[in-house]
Amino acid sequence: MTNQEIIDLNAKYLCTTYARFPVAFVRGQGCRLWDADGKAYLDFFASLAVMNLGQCHPAVVKAVQEQVATLTHISNLHHTIPQARLAELLCTNSFADKVFFCNSGAEANEAAIKLARKFGGDKREGRYEILTTLGSFHGRTMATISATGQEKVRQGFAPLLEGFRYVPYDDLSAMEAAISERTVAIFVEPIQGEGGVVTPRPGYLKGLRELCNHHRLLLLLDEVQTGMGRTGKLFAYEHEGITPDIMTLAKALGGGIPIGAMLARGEVAESFNLGSHGSTFGGNAIACASGTAVVNTLLHGGVLENCRAMGEYFLNRLQALKGKFSFVKEVRGKGLILGAELEREGAPIVEACLKEGLLINTTGGKVLRFIPPLIVTKAEIDEGFTILEKVLAQQ
Ligand SMILES: *Cc1c(COP(=O)(O)O)cnc(C)c1O
Repeated sequence: MTNQEIIDLNAKYLCTTYARFPVAFVRGQGCRLWDADGKAYLDFFASLAVMNLGQCHPAVVKAVQEQVATLTHISNLHHTIPQARLAELLCTNSFADKVFFCNSGAEANEAAIKLARKFGGDKREGRYEILTTLGSFHGRTMATISATGQEKVRQGFAPLLEGFRYVPYDDLSAMEAAISERTVAIFVEPIQGEGGVVTPRPGYLKGLRELCNHHRLLLLLDEVQTGMGRTGKLFAYEHEGITPDIMTLAKALGGGIPIGAMLARGEVAESFNLGSHGSTFGGNAIACASGTAVVNTLLHGGVLENCRAMGEYFLNRLQALKGKFSFVKEVRGKGLILGAELEREGAPIVEACLKEGLLINTTGGKVLRFIPPLIVTKAEIDEGFTILEKVLAQQ
């Protein structure tokens, strides 16, 4: 099939929920993708911060092939090795004592919201309110759009779930002022990914942790996008010298296989007991085997080190654009989640880059977002910037 044939077939039968670019991919390797007409692309998007190890990483391919040929799926009424292994790996490498597995970021956040409410009922005199932030993104289910501090995501779906209040991001005094006798938790992203790679000042997470300690609240971190090495540490909270009470993961956790996870401190996790929550596919054997390969490769394959070094190099190259192009206003981010805020719309630039064989993305309207696989090389970054600078010069 050609690009156009695939596009036409999708247009005929799929719900039109996505504004898609006119390209259909058929193959990938590392930071390279090929479309149905045979054109090659350099990938600085990683399929939305999912493919942190790139396409078809040998450790992921091996883990998935072996698992699918051994034991494909077992219900959560029974035990499996991959689920136990991945849970152990996540807990021993984080603050957490317990994990609940599901299939996506929204589901992980649903689990976090349910656990916070249950904990509020059990141990905080029935408190239920969760404070979230303006510009946040937590998913597309009813509870997670209710938690999301962006009007455009909630538009048309009223009545929403009660019990959320939105507070300005990176503003500790606004957060403190918003705490009421009903509040049980503060729920934030360490960097707002969909909101435009909004990077809070150092000390923000620490300040939130102190507020939570002082007011006996839970700190919930949505690390669906910032987790799994994206910022140069396995989890973004590690940069700030604090630990959350609950953390959610998904996107890159499964190496491209759908999986989500909610991690919690033991005392908090206790509020989930028999029958409190569940998922048919949560902790699927293939997804967990793949996730185990991902975590091991991130930790022992030099990937975090590469992310930190290449992140610094990438950020320096972005900084240099500020001097060259007057419409590049600010660059920001950490590790390999980077943004360039423009004084104009980002969409025409993303389209022009695609035509030239470079995949980037725009978010929040005027922010170019760069979230390449964490295995990206210096030569690949240079190649991408040759294209990007050519495109920017033509704007
Ligand atoms: C992508 C994302 C989600 C939603 O994840 P899905 O797997 O699409 O449900 C939630 N929170 C953050 C921070 C995300 O980036």
